[in-house]
Amino acid sequence: MERFDVLVVGAGPAGSSTAIHLARAGARVLLAEKAAFPRDKPCGGGLTGRALKRIPVDPSPVVERDVDRFELRLRYGARFTRGHDEPLIRMTQRSRLDAFLAEAAAVAGAELRQRARVDELRPDERGVLARVGGVPVRADVLVGADGANGVVARSVGLGDGIVHGVALEGNVPLDVLDGDWERTATIELATVPGGYGWVFPKGDHANLGVGGWGSEGPRLREHLTRLAREHRVDAGELTDVRGHRLPMRRLGTLPGEGRVLLVGDAAGLVDPLSGDGMYEAFVSARLAAEAILVGDLNGYSAALAGVLDRHAAASWAAKRALDRYPRTVFAAARAPGVFGVVAGLLCGEVAHPGDARGVARGPLKLIARLAR
Ligand SMILES: Cc1cc2nc3c(=O)[nH]c(=O)nc-3n(C[C@H](O)[C@H](O)[C@H](O)COP(=O)(O)OP(=O)(O)OC[C@H]3O[C@@H](n4cnc5c(N)ncnc54)[C@H](O)[C@@H]3O)c2cc1C
Repeated sequence: MERFDVLVVGAGPAGSSTAIHLARAGARVLLAEKAAFPRDKPCGGGLTGRALKRIPVDPSPVVERDVDRFELRLRYGARFTRGHDEPLIRMTQRSRLDAFLAEAAAVAGAELRQRARVDELRPDERGVLARVGGVPVRADVLVGADGANGVVARSVGLGDGIVHGVALEGNVPLDVLDGDWERTATIELATVPGGYGWVFPKGDHANLGVGGWGSEGPRLREHLTRLAREHRVDAGELTDVRGHRLPMRRLGTLPGEGRVLLVGDAAGLVDPLSGDGMYEAFVSARLAAEAILVGDLNGYSAALAGVLDRHAAASWAAKRALDRYPRTVFAAARAPGVFGVVAGLLCGEVAHPGDARGVARGPLKLIARLAR
């Protein structure tokens, strides 16, 4: 039987980052991925400024474009554009980013196994017994980094507090797009209940997507067709159209049990308002690795809540306000100073909208009141 200190299930951003931190500290890590790289994952591929502060390796070799402007529109009507003096999002493609991070984990010393599905999980008080690509493995700690549809959470009875949103996306060549898209992310508000539409420019194509409450699943194709039409794109021209779940945990949902820790989407860490999850994947990877290295697995839950929960509570509140009062929230977002706070949140320089100072305080307080 093969033995490891830690078995990490899934080599997405959360799993590869966990493996990087652990391997750099000298732990014996098996990073098992059921797919073979390069593999794609439905995702806008946008690394926000705050994600860039937590990613364990410099992703520049796989960044295709920097975005420092946002165009926000309400119901495909009123719009405004705001810029920032540094990149708000660095655009990657997940097929490239994930292969890059998995390779970095192998370079750090983790054993990376591709086409190695993990199943027959049997967690116990000493760790876990599992089959990895058909081979029996024992590890002292199991890290579930197996995403929104993973098996690890279920194996220890976790995951009940997770609400699932859904998203659908597709790509078009850049020359099909109209307008000033060069360094601009377009966000279409109040077009999908519980979410929004987006247009993200990449190296040679744009990624168009829509996401919202899980109940919007049957209407997502319709929402994507409308988004495409509004950008003068024939929906028939979209390639690689695919959907995926967005797992968003209610505050207090546990990310671990016994000798099993969950990171990234497996723990339901997608931001409820923005729908992005790579920042949370990197944060949870770091905290899980630290908990393992200091031998305090029980401390992981509180450490994660300490970093993420205040922001997540504000995101749930803003999502409620936007769903109920889209016009007022849009007007508040347009008010002087507010985009500076949004940019600060995206770049990790403002921890919470309540920390805002100056003219932005009024409109942000209004959004908080609407949520209640
Ligand atoms: C349409 C869409 C757009 C998005 N856009 C953005 C964005 O622009 N920016 C952003 O930050 N976030 C975005 N997100 C969220 C982001 O994609 C996720 O939060 C992120 O992928 C989470 O990373 P992860 O490593 O936890 O999980 P994943 O990336 O899902 O990785 C899980 C890995 O586990 C593997 N796996 C699963 N089961 C097993 C098994 N049994 N054995 C072995 N391997 C297994 C899978 O093959 C996969 O490689 C978007 C999500 C969607 C759906």
